[in-house]
Amino acid sequence: MLPNDVKNIFRNYIREKGLRNTRQREEILDAFFSAEKHITVEKLFASIKAKNPGIGYATVHRNLTLLCECGLADEMKIGRQKTRYEPKFGQKHHDHLICLKCGRFIEVNDNKIEKLQDKLAELNDFIPVRHKLEIYGICKDCK
Ligand SMILES: [Zn+2]
Ligand SMILES: [Zn+2]
Repeated sequence: MLPNDVKNIFRNYIREKGLRNTRQREEILDAFFSAEKHITVEKLFASIKAKNPGIGYATVHRNLTLLCECGLADEMKIGRQKTRYEPKFGQKHHDHLICLKCGRFIEVNDNKIEKLQDKLAELNDFIPVRHKLEIYGICKDCK
């Protein structure tokens, strides 16, 4: 089940934008948060359409953009590959190793690297708010 916080953040944002909250929006939100991570619009659309044939691709795409705008999702554009989306709420911080061949995202988290990044910011008298570390390469299946 989706935490109420997520729904409220989205609903409030929709209202702020002067948009209407619709049943479809809520379905997209639910589907996105329960889908596999780092998903493309196409895949998410296909899974929603299977249950809800009336839904359009543009609607799914538009709502993913809204989710990014209100901070509930992250958009990752890797070169010429299709943009991937991942839910951001209640997630542990992680970084990505991204395969340039198959487009797979591997989630990684290393305390030492995290601390080094903080240190780097501190050395530059900088207060870090967030960061993104992406390493591009070839995964073990594509080698
Ligand atoms: Zn690969
Ligand atoms: Zn991720």
